[in-house]
Amino acid sequence: MFADRLQRLGTENAFKLADHIARVQAGGQDVVRLNLGEPDFDAPAHVAAVAKAQIDAGNGHYCHPAGIEGLRRAIARQVGETRGLDVDWHRVVVHPGGKPSIAYSLLTYVNPGDEVIYPSPGFPVYESWVTFVGAEPVAMRLRESAGFAMTAGDLAALITDKTKLIILNSPANPTGGLIEAEALAEMAEVIRDKAPADVRIYSDEIYENIIFDGRRHASIASQPGMAERTLIASGHSKSFAMTGWRLGYVVLPTVEEAEIFKNLNINLISCTPPFIQEAGREALESPESAAAIARMVSAFDERRKVVVETLNATPGISCVMPKGAFYVFPNVAGACDTLGAIEAFEKMPPDQQRRSSPSTLLQMFALYGHGVATMDRPSFCRIGSDGEHYLRLSTAADLHQLEEGLRRLAAAVTDADGFAEFVGQQAMMKM
Ligand code: PMP
Repeated sequence: MFADRLQRLGTENAFKLADHIARVQAGGQDVVRLNLGEPDFDAPAHVAAVAKAQIDAGNGHYCHPAGIEGLRRAIARQVGETRGLDVDWHRVVVHPGGKPSIAYSLLTYVNPGDEVIYPSPGFPVYESWVTFVGAEPVAMRLRESAGFAMTAGDLAALITDKTKLIILNSPANPTGGLIEAEALAEMAEVIRDKAPADVRIYSDEIYENIIFDGRRHASIASQPGMAERTLIASGHSKSFAMTGWRLGYVVLPTVEEAEIFKNLNINLISCTPPFIQEAGREALESPESAAAIARMVSAFDERRKVVVETLNATPGISCVMPKGAFYVFPNVAGACDTLGAIEAFEKMPPDQQRRSSPSTLLQMFALYGHGVATMDRPSFCRIGSDGEHYLRLSTAADLHQLEEGLRRLAAAVTDADGFAEFVGQQAMMKM
């Protein structure tokens, strides 16, 4: 019944975990949810007020497929000012949430067999679309020792004459890694030297506002010669806690490319709801927004410090301090080893191994056995994940929840008997 191409489509497990969580809850165990990447704040009141007024004013009809002029101009201004660029608003395309432009880029620039470089660990939707369009996935493995930041050396080793698209993400999901301006300058040099002018860079900057320790967001598009080949992607989900509003956008290198993305919008979604776009314009233009962002970032900052300190005091776990976003990505190799998760994984039949990993076993045991939901390493691009043992925890939960979640995780990693029993009940391990 199903088309062959579906075999090549991945997924985002952070959403799929909901079924497991529901099963655990149905069994009477409450769950501390540290799996989903969404701020535990609501959209700022001054932004919500505009959406309400726009609905009352009847602004609920079709609008321009690339986005309303007011929002596209506001995006062009904000992106231009923050990246030091001159951005023509005709190069801006608005779409629902940050995901569509990932898909559009793969559909627009990449033929089957072309190579696409993307981070691993990285946002899973990159790998999903790369394989879906039949491209050759080239996972750039991010090293913990480098703070999970991509480096120019890593990139240089992967560019070939088949490379068509390079995906960058900073600040990064799931690691909280940041590519600093100096590293971006070196990467830009590598790209100028090694990649033909038609190779595009997809720079996912959706966490641009969530950066700690006084560091500032830097975009590769600001480097010489890069604006001409970079797509700058961002959106309102993270910066303004508007995940369910579905508002994202991309600045394309040329108007011609923006027209193609507009046509993809026409084919897929017609347009993005206009009252949401008006609210999104308010978010970018209002002087009240800076304080709303600062409040969230300071909460994330406080939490990451508590969480990293607690994780580093947990047996078998070590965790580097994230520089941005709202995740921590602890190394759980020691815990997987002492619990017997590595051994248990090695004993699994190959078809089960393909859907699992030692960190998956730990993730499932922590959820089913101890009531804390986290994400396993393979959920963040499977290629390049072999032999790596990490979990992602979201810090988008209040401190009380986080502390309880960490207590449960600590109980899980020291419960070898419980783990052995859990592994015996293979039926539960569907991921
Ligand atoms: N890019 C990255 C790196 C993300 O982490 C996310 C959301 N988790 C997105 C894009 C997509 O965001 P949205 O919810 O706006 O589609």
